[in-house]
Amino acid sequence: MSINLKQNDLSHVVAADRHHVWHHLSQHKHYETADPRVFVEGRGLKLWDANGREYLDGVSGGVWTVNVGYGRESIANAVRDQLVKLNYYAGAAGNVPGALFAAKLIEKMPGLTRVYYSNSGSEANEKAYKMVRQIAARHHGGRKWKVLYRERDYHGTTIGTLATSGQPQRADQYGPYPDGFVMVPHCLEYRKQWDVENYGERAANAIEEVILREGPDTVGAIVLEPVTAGGGVITPPEGYWQRVQEICRKYDILLHIDEVVCGLGRTGTWFGYQQYDIQPDIVTMAKGVASGYAAISCTVTTERVFDMFKDTPQDGMSYFRDISTFGGCTAGPVAALENMRIIEDEGLLENTAMMGERTFANLRALMEKHKVIGDVRGKGLFCGAELVADRTTKEPLEEKLVQAVVADCLAQGVIIGATNRSLHGGLNNTLCLSPALVATSEDIDQITGAIDTALAKLSV
Ligand code: PLP
Repeated sequence: MSINLKQNDLSHVVAADRHHVWHHLSQHKHYETADPRVFVEGRGLKLWDANGREYLDGVSGGVWTVNVGYGRESIANAVRDQLVKLNYYAGAAGNVPGALFAAKLIEKMPGLTRVYYSNSGSEANEKAYKMVRQIAARHHGGRKWKVLYRERDYHGTTIGTLATSGQPQRADQYGPYPDGFVMVPHCLEYRKQWDVENYGERAANAIEEVILREGPDTVGAIVLEPVTAGGGVITPPEGYWQRVQEICRKYDILLHIDEVVCGLGRTGTWFGYQQYDIQPDIVTMAKGVASGYAAISCTVTTERVFDMFKDTPQDGMSYFRDISTFGGCTAGPVAALENMRIIEDEGLLENTAMMGERTFANLRALMEKHKVIGDVRGKGLFCGAELVADRTTKEPLEEKLVQAVVADCLAQGVIIGATNRSLHGGLNNTLCLSPALVATSEDIDQITGAIDTALAKLSV
């Protein structure tokens, strides 16, 4: 049976949703007086809701996920064919799409060799933290167990990953947290913390200061987003990444790059870290791996990391003592294989780089026109425009005005995002664009045009 509802049935669906679904990130009081928006269908960047209204999705499914766009029959067919053949087997055995996708993936990631499957970005990061702790226990006599994370970055929603949340409002109510996770300063130059020439190097040196304070022999890894997403679309300044890499090598600290948002093309290269010519030890990814057609995440490591889990003659228990039940679903890797084929065959990396340039050009033009835009940042089809009440003082724009811009775009049929509200007292008022990698010039112009119209209505 497939779900194929007629317009009349949809009022029942909306009522069922309103009364029984607990939505993510939602204040449900709103639904006492208004129906929730329920999406029914999607094609490319277009979405239709239960009232038949059409939208242009500028954020790939709300949270930077649907990289190849909606309605991909070839992915649906590949998943269907695989599921009737073999849907699942977990634990120590492998499966065909899992093996083939791992091999394809590491072709895109020189220097990395091993893929560990799970289901969400949070889970992929948790696996990495567990690896670091097990390496510390088995190879460093219990030292080197700490993981550094950066202010404004985000790595997931579980208690372990919230312990590495650089966005306090996400974590505030869920502590106490486990020990051993230590924050380093953010690197957003627009919100300067140091008055220096070479800001990238200075921001990276702040990591070294934390390492020296904690003791280099206690620090096992650092987890960083290549381009910070929810923390305000932050592209690290020139020189930052090279210095970070040097520091990691100097103190034998594993460099863990969280590619949950940037992974699989979002920035115009397969991975965000590839924009910066660095060589990570661990890379995690989720959203764009199968573009939301199936749940899959990966923790990818070097052979050196993998080797640290090999049995020693004295000890037969050094394997990674971890499992993910649904890491044995074949739907994820088969969808991921087809997702990757689409990105390659349709030239979506090139399109992303090109359309990203167009988005930046349009946003910069808007900056000339609207003084409320304080800064424009990002890479590829991952762009942010920070809104300020005053360009000179950089006082953040009032939260409700930022939300008014998002709501106005929605009223125009264009979905855009704004990164998390009230972060650091409202500094994080960044409009966020991350359309599917198949976006055309017309799509980009429609999205930035909607922002232009919405900003023109602001009375600041
Ligand atoms: N890492 C980053 C950079 C993210 O943006 C997110 C989610 O938005 C996560 C990890 C967590 O992923 P998930 O929601 O799949 O657990």
